[in-house]
Amino acid sequence: AKRAGRNGYAIFDPTMTLSVLEEAQQRADIEHALEHDEFRVLYQPVVDMTTQQLIAVEALVRWQHPRDGLLGPYHFIASAEANGLIVPLGRWVLRQACAQLARWRAESPAAAGLHVNVNLSARQFQYAGLVEDVAEALADAGLDAASLTLEITESMLMADIETAKETLYALRGLGVRLAIDDFGTGYSSLSYLKQLPVDVIKIDKTFVDEVHIDEDDVALVDAVAGLGQALKMKTVAEGIETDAQWDTLRKIGIDHGQGYLFGRPAEQERILEMLAVTVA
Ligand code: C2E
Ligand code: CA
Ligand code: CA
Ligand code: CA
Repeated sequence: AKRAGRNGYAIFDPTMTLSVLEEAQQRADIEHALEHDEFRVLYQPVVDMTTQQLIAVEALVRWQHPRDGLLGPYHFIASAEANGLIVPLGRWVLRQACAQLARWRAESPAAAGLHVNVNLSARQFQYAGLVEDVAEALADAGLDAASLTLEITESMLMADIETAKETLYALRGLGVRLAIDDFGTGYSSLSYLKQLPVDVIKIDKTFVDEVHIDEDDVALVDAVAGLGQALKMKTVAEGIETDAQWDTLRKIGIDHGQGYLFGRPAEQERILEMLAVTVA
């Protein structure tokens, strides 16, 4: 049932059937990696669409595998989600990201207004200890809650709207900001969106890819920009790769942008360099 060949880390396809043994192996591998500090966090810039100023960074996890090299999330997140290890792994990413922002602040005055975004998985979002984990990560890093934005997807919200609402308000109670990730790919209804304490809408890359050539995408993104304005939420366009896409999205009035055009996920040192340029 394993497509991966000699190891279990090639793309994990949740639809394929893994034997009990294979599942146990993947669990053991991720546990081992957690214990041996093999995970790393890269940070991707989020910039102001008009000034190109660095507004935030999104924390993106990687696995520095001793044999297979640097592995992206598609190699292990679904597996960790399935076996529950996403909870300790996600907690680790959260703690790293908070501590890193605090270090940037100590090292550079330009980091004063910088935010950090951290992705939450469905399982983490349902985990009863989440709010406590977040509070603890902030306290241990000495970071103010308003500097942290947690990213959740529409499907996580819609699975159990009442519980989701409670969790969101508890997180909001701490003072953290909330973003809806991959917006447009799920089916959140507008009436729900209105009721939720969401600060940021991240427009999925699929709407950005052809926005410079496809009028339908322009209309859709324009509608989301209007929605953001009406609900007083910031809009972020994801996956911007070209000047043409950037131009179009800026004219539509999208607030912030993220994508290879502005910077790939990078080591913390690279972000520090970008901050230094901001000051100069
Ligand atoms: P996402 O949250 O939608 O993150 C954005 C993904 O798009 C990242 O992929 C990023 O590298 C990629 N990206 C950004 N700009 C561009 C661009 O211009 N072009 C292209 N082609 N891609 C771009 P990455 O790092 O491979 O992460 C994939 C997904 O894995 C993330 O999607 C997120 O759902 C998940 N993930 C990453 N880190 C974590 C984490 O710490 N916890 C959880 N639960 N999920 C994570
Ligand atoms: Ca994200
Ligand atoms: Ca996204
Ligand atoms: Ca995405």
